[in-house]
Amino acid sequence: MGLNSNGGDRLECLRNARIVVLKIGSAVLAGGSDLNFAVLESLAAQIAAIRIQACGESGHDFTRQVIVVSSGAVAAGKKALAGAGICDFANYDRARPAIAAVGQSLLMHAWNRAFAPHGIITSQVLLTRDDLRSRKRFQTAAGTFAAMLSWGVVPVVNENDTVSVSGLKFGDNDCLASLLVNLVEADMFINLTSAPGVLNADPQANPDALVLESIEEIARLDIDALCGCKSELGSGGMHSKLLAARRVSQLGVPTIILPGREKDILLRAFGLLPQADASCPGTWICADKKSIPRRKFWLAYQSEPAGTVEIDDGAARALLYNGSSLLPGGITSVTGEFEKGALLRVCHSGHNLGVGFSNYDADDLAKIRGLKRHEVAAILGQARYPDVIHRDNLLLDAAI
Ligand code: GLU
Repeated sequence: MGLNSNGGDRLECLRNARIVVLKIGSAVLAGGSDLNFAVLESLAAQIAAIRIQACGESGHDFTRQVIVVSSGAVAAGKKALAGAGICDFANYDRARPAIAAVGQSLLMHAWNRAFAPHGIITSQVLLTRDDLRSRKRFQTAAGTFAAMLSWGVVPVVNENDTVSVSGLKFGDNDCLASLLVNLVEADMFINLTSAPGVLNADPQANPDALVLESIEEIARLDIDALCGCKSELGSGGMHSKLLAARRVSQLGVPTIILPGREKDILLRAFGLLPQADASCPGTWICADKKSIPRRKFWLAYQSEPAGTVEIDDGAARALLYNGSSLLPGGITSVTGEFEKGALLRVCHSGHNLGVGFSNYDADDLAKIRGLKRHEVAAILGQARYPDVIHRDNLLLDAAI
């Protein structure tokens, strides 16, 4: 990571981007408490401007597609309910989905109003993590986005808080946005936040922390050490933004984390302002050089792991250096209650090596851990899978 980056490359990358996922946090849209319409208006105008990419005489002009992931429903709902004298929630966590439902329509109304002067039609898409878990529903959602984008619509996406239950939640919109990058096959992820970018130290402990211009290898960044804190209004904080950036980097997609409240921030990032105003804001996070297949990405991140297997040194070496599958013999312990086909965390000496789909449920796995193939057959019968997690269903170095 560095405090200097090649602004030229970054601009080139942004200018070539055809499908952009743009996530906007609550702290940007609802700085004080209510939605700030002036901010929405300004962002809608900037989004309208960055959608048109003029390539000069030699290139072809094109319309860049933008998918907005917008928080702010809870903030808008709280404000509206408070206006009606409803602000004393006995159990806030239980009330939150209903507050979000109140705010969601206000949020969409505000976005429609903000985009209308630019002749842009919006759509509302509410998703839960569970919606993307089945491959069929994932593909249906992908087709729906493709249709909307082909019509020039700007989809405005949020988590469907009304039906999100713990374990099946994205948890925060950074996570949702990172999974959308895969769904819509975006080639750029922009995350607008209330911070100036990623700081080189935890600002709580280090008030003089500086903004990093770029992070070259996010896989090598110790995200926990860099930031542990969460912002007040949203549920994510910089930690979840970096985790989201790390995920999309695995798809070969770069991220830019920008201070969403700064004037003309998107125009500046896309080099659409006169030279004097065009300094490089925020933090650029490079894509991994080697990307993983989209199916593997979907498989690893479509849900929270339901259990954990601890593996021995030999199995860890085989997974990391030989591209092997995980066999029963290498497993030393199994925790969690899970069905066959569940997503499992694979750990070695307390370190998280990755995640993968299990060919066995928790009970069977507990019976066969540490055993050789013929011993497994003696217990469970011949027709069983030789591997617990096949290498095609395993993502090492998963950002979870
Ligand atoms: N879905 C929540 C809202 O609209 C936001 C979650 C988040 O900020 O990550 O308020």
